[in-house]
Amino acid sequence: MTTREQDASSPARSGPRVLVVGAGIAGLAVVRALRGWDAQIDVVERETAPHEVGAGIFLPGNAVRGLRALGLDKTVAEQAVRIERHRIADHRGRVLFELDTSSLWPDDVPTLATRRATVHAALLDDLGDTVIRWGTGPVTVVRDGPGLDVTFTDGTSGRYDLVIGADGAHSAVRRLVFGDVGLRATGVQAWRLVMPRRSAEPVWAVRLGRGASFLTIPVSEDLDYCYLDVNVDVAGSGATLAEVAARFDGAAQAVADGAAVRHTGPIEEVSLGYWSRGRVLLVGDAAHATPPSLAQGAAMAMEDALVLGELLRTTPSVPAALREYERRRRPRVDRVQQQTRQRDRTRGLHPAARNLLLRTVGRRLFRANYTGLHAGP
Ligand SMILES: Cc1cc2nc3c(=O)[nH]c(=O)nc-3n(C[C@H](O)[C@H](O)[C@H](O)COP(=O)(O)OP(=O)(O)OC[C@H]3O[C@@H](n4cnc5c(N)ncnc54)[C@H](O)[C@@H]3O)c2cc1C
Repeated sequence: MTTREQDASSPARSGPRVLVVGAGIAGLAVVRALRGWDAQIDVVERETAPHEVGAGIFLPGNAVRGLRALGLDKTVAEQAVRIERHRIADHRGRVLFELDTSSLWPDDVPTLATRRATVHAALLDDLGDTVIRWGTGPVTVVRDGPGLDVTFTDGTSGRYDLVIGADGAHSAVRRLVFGDVGLRATGVQAWRLVMPRRSAEPVWAVRLGRGASFLTIPVSEDLDYCYLDVNVDVAGSGATLAEVAARFDGAAQAVADGAAVRHTGPIEEVSLGYWSRGRVLLVGDAAHATPPSLAQGAAMAMEDALVLGELLRTTPSVPAALREYERRRRPRVDRVQQQTRQRDRTRGLHPAARNLLLRTVGRRLFRANYTGLHAGP
């Protein structure tokens, strides 16, 4: 086996050799959270260069706490909008209920919204001496005694003490090490877009139609992030953005008329009985991708990284740290997935029943979604 030569800008260290697969929010947060642990960290990313991926990102209180623990909350806040209010309406815009964002989270954490690229760039800017190898990913991951031999798509190979799969819902690490398990389609198709900001109000505003939703969130002085989705059982699998936008009584017309579509695809969920196998661990969407209704993707990815960093620094062995990681993270992630399914079930009710329910107990349901996340991870 030819081991990859150490990159000149990546100083040799004596500690464990760690491979992070994926330089999204989870992978980059892991790199940052592992600071202070004397490890040699390699990062590989399938994309050939950093570029703007995604549209906007909503950062509820626990995501902002995650950014704070990673030392990035101020950088992100400078380019973000502080969201003050939530407004939930029917497809015509008739308000079902509203609540102040401050009633959802403890006083010390704002709720922010920004471009997804803002968060990604903040993480990328701050990698210390870790180098990303762009344009490659794993082909094989083979356990050999206490270590792992990994071959890469660029023909190189390496030997590691720990492999961290942070490579998203369609994780190659999961497929190579765990098999073809965990990924489930939810039957929802989504579009993520950006368009010129339409209102000065710092409001997270959603309209709920029959099996469809239309969300707008201001993410900068000039831009709104829009998210539209539809249940394919209701609209058919070939539904177009224009058809889905038409369900909202003209309000989403500007979206159909020319907003920039940044990301489209099916909404998927990953659910696994275990997140590590030997010295291979999955984090972020690779381990527990969750539909975006509670906007917990980035928050859970950062929390994963922070807990993992803490445990690897303080636990005597890697396997013991991975066991403790799963014990600590599992209840919180399971709760987020369960609360998300519950919100999605409510959303999928017949509109008349759903609207009545939300008018009556919507505020209480919304608060309940997040109360379990007030304490740190
Ligand atoms: C294209 C895209 C756009 C998104 N847009 C938004 C958005 O606008 N708003 C929002 O709230 N959420 C968005 N999300 C979801 C959100 O980013 C994630 O839920 C959250 O940040 C957790 O991310 P992650 O790092 O675990 O996974 P991801 O964000 O999926 O990152 C995984 C990374 O691993 C890389 N990768 C994948 N396979 C391999 C491989 N075989 N080898 C090496 N690298 C690999 C990917 O290129 C990517 O950089 C988007 C996700 C994707 C994939």
